[in-house]
Amino acid sequence: MKALASVLLILLALASPVAAQSIVIDPGHGGADPGGTGNNMLEKDLVLDTSKRFRDLLNADSADSAGGGSWTVNLTRDTDVFVSLAARSSYANSIGADRFMSIHANAFGNASANGTETFAYAEGGNGAALRNLVQEEMIAAWGLTNRGNKTANFSVLVNTAMPAELHELAFITNSTDAALLASADKRQQAAAAHLRAIQRHFGIAPYVPGSAPEPQIGSIAFHVSGPAGALVGASISIDGEASGTTDDSGDLLIAEVSSGEHLLAASAEGYVSAEVSVEVVANQEASASIELEARGDAEEGPDDEVIECDPEVESCDEGTGGCSTSGSAGAQSFAACLLLALIILGRRRRYIKCGQARRPSVMGATPSKTWAQSLDSRVAMSSRGRNQEAVRG
Ligand SMILES: [Zn+2]
Repeated sequence: MKALASVLLILLALASPVAAQSIVIDPGHGGADPGGTGNNMLEKDLVLDTSKRFRDLLNADSADSAGGGSWTVNLTRDTDVFVSLAARSSYANSIGADRFMSIHANAFGNASANGTETFAYAEGGNGAALRNLVQEEMIAAWGLTNRGNKTANFSVLVNTAMPAELHELAFITNSTDAALLASADKRQQAAAAHLRAIQRHFGIAPYVPGSAPEPQIGSIAFHVSGPAGALVGASISIDGEASGTTDDSGDLLIAEVSSGEHLLAASAEGYVSAEVSVEVVANQEASASIELEARGDAEEGPDDEVIECDPEVESCDEGTGGCSTSGSAGAQSFAACLLLALIILGRRRRYIKCGQARRPSVMGATPSKTWAQSLDSRVAMSSRGRNQEAVRG
């Protein structure tokens, strides 16, 4: 019972859509608080711009169902306003955010200080795990000095109820670092690095929104007829999946078909089902038609079997109804072979079709035997019996 409940829980988990992760992005400083300053830039402006780029990427990722994740994104500020440290963490707590990601730039009196560093409140747990990924992705993106994964008792790390990290993109006071901070392209790269980090943090393969190739889709205009013309209400399937039924004109338009070859099958009451292969090209409408034969007495039914005579059988003995592989070949003996098949299989309605194909199972022979071989063994047994009789006689 417990096992069953577990299975049901797993099935429910698989069935329910993945809930969006709630992410709070926290651009440092703002308003009267410029944060660090240097190289004619203010930290508050750079981090707000980077935060908005990150937000836009998360929203684009949510909108793009081809890859990536699903996110609910909120910023602690999205304009140049002052927000207290306490208000930032309490806001994230009030909306029950899943993760808190704060973005800053460093500043130092000595202009030689440079590089990228990231903080969590403590080692271990999801805050530190996210911190490590942001740092890894930012080092890969900007290639600045790796100052490492650190811990600190910053207000927003201490007072947030959810896993949190705080990233220092680079030193605004260092000319090399500042050149990257000043570049809109580089800030976009930083936003993408944050996206990759949060995707990886939630076990999602890194995905750039909008990067999936356009799906190659076309359509098929399908027409089904019978001996008397258009066939209304014929059931159509495509690659084994039901697609619809033909309309009053015997037509069915199948939309949104992936490009490539597809197998269309048509069936209707009183008709022999048939299939046709159709090649679909992207952004084009392929047309195909099929004519179904009416099902009559002479038609193959589900109980019918096709018996195939092997023409390699060289002769048949009309007296015994048997065939052998030795002796003279001829149309007469082959006809007898057909007759034998009719006699042996006369209990059920079957069709005799001559050709090279082998249908060993029809005769109940072992799968490795051909029809002719199976027949040979019967003939041989029959011959032995007759010979024995002859000897006795
Ligand atoms: Zn700062």
